Amino acid sequence: MLLTFDQAKQKILQACTTVKSLEHETVSLNDALDRITAVPIISPINVPRFDNSAMDGYAVRLADIEKSRTLPVSKTVYAGDDIDDLNWAIGSCLRIMTGAPVPNDADAVVMQEHTQVKGQHITFLKDIKAGDNIRRIGEDIKKDAITVAKGQLLSIPTLSTLATLGIHQVCVYKTLNVAIFSTGNELTPIGQPLTDNGAIYDSNGFTLKQLLTKLNCQVIDLGIIPDDPNQIKQALMTASTQADLIITSGGVSVGDADYTKTALEELGQINFWKIAMKPGKPFAFGQIGKALFCGLPGNPVSTVVTFYQLVQPLISALAGQQTLSADLTFKVKTATDLKKSVGRIDFQRGRVEPNDQGELEVKSTGQQGSHITQSFNKANCFIILEQERGNVSKGEYVTVTLFNDLLK
Ligand code: AMP
Ligand code: MG
Repeated sequence: MLLTFDQAKQKILQACTTVKSLEHETVSLNDALDRITAVPIISPINVPRFDNSAMDGYAVRLADIEKSRTLPVSKTVYAGDDIDDLNWAIGSCLRIMTGAPVPNDADAVVMQEHTQVKGQHITFLKDIKAGDNIRRIGEDIKKDAITVAKGQLLSIPTLSTLATLGIHQVCVYKTLNVAIFSTGNELTPIGQPLTDNGAIYDSNGFTLKQLLTKLNCQVIDLGIIPDDPNQIKQALMTASTQADLIITSGGVSVGDADYTKTALEELGQINFWKIAMKPGKPFAFGQIGKALFCGLPGNPVSTVVTFYQLVQPLISALAGQQTLSADLTFKVKTATDLKKSVGRIDFQRGRVEPNDQGELEVKSTGQQGSHITQSFNKANCFIILEQERGNVSKGEYVTVTLFNDLLK
């Protein structure tokens, strides 16, 4: 009995909670992009720090306005001014610029477009309400509030908020060490000539390094290991002493030269091996020593699909991220027939685009074999076809999810 995709993903995420006790380090805000907070970040100040003007215009007291809609200007306040000693005569208004502090006794700021200026006198043309165009102290962020919780991925908008608070360094979890190797007698490193007739290039080794670098992991590259049980075991033992996670490609299927799964069974514990998904049915998951292990299938498309769908959330969880946002999925009509057999969830590659009426629709990228790398190159989304679904005809609704940044 194969595990369903959801069961497999759940087992993977469960394993993460038991494995790693994460270490911390403090990094400059400049180096904090895509890192994960190890402690909550508390705001040292209010934002805004003081009541300030949202417009270039005039600060007024409503009591003055009730008496006269034309008032003389007594002073001008600029952004950056200190207004502690500001004397502002009753029956006058203040010229004020965007970002300038608003005195406590001003009720509103009137934008200059709603006034008429005659020399030093301003006539107010529209209704004025208390609080108009005043940005209040702390209305964005309150002093001492938790601004970023623990276990959050630091994005550019979040870092920008921290910069607003004057925070210049953050305590984050250390990045993961991930060991990789490719298995297969047929594999040749890219950059070297293909000498034997049966030789192919080790594209998975390259791809895994790119994907892991994108996820902020430190890659320990053990290269290509031939289909030899002893050499595979040796590589796994080396990897397990250095890495938080070991990822291999190839050798986890049912062929005579598929030794990776057996090596895992001998050296560590196997959690599960097969998933009812396509591509990616053979996927070995387990643990060797303190390192988690993912044995990805060797076909290049299967390697990327299983990495995206299963290893990516595993790495986020293992690296300390607390809330994993679910992929945003939505339904659109397919503009092409889709071949599908019942019994496994399919992650087909497609292109979602607006049609002539501006409505989104999805097209298959063509042949979906797990060796057809072109199915990925032209795609911008996965078409997720449910396990029990059969062939899909043009015009039926299907679930899609756009590729996230990992593949860009
Ligand atoms: P395996 O999972 O070892 O049975 O391999 C399945 C298919 O993927 C075979 O056609 C392999 O030649 C191919 N393959 C395995 N490893 C790699 C790799 N690192 N790069 C490119 N193709 C691979
Ligand atoms: Mg192989």
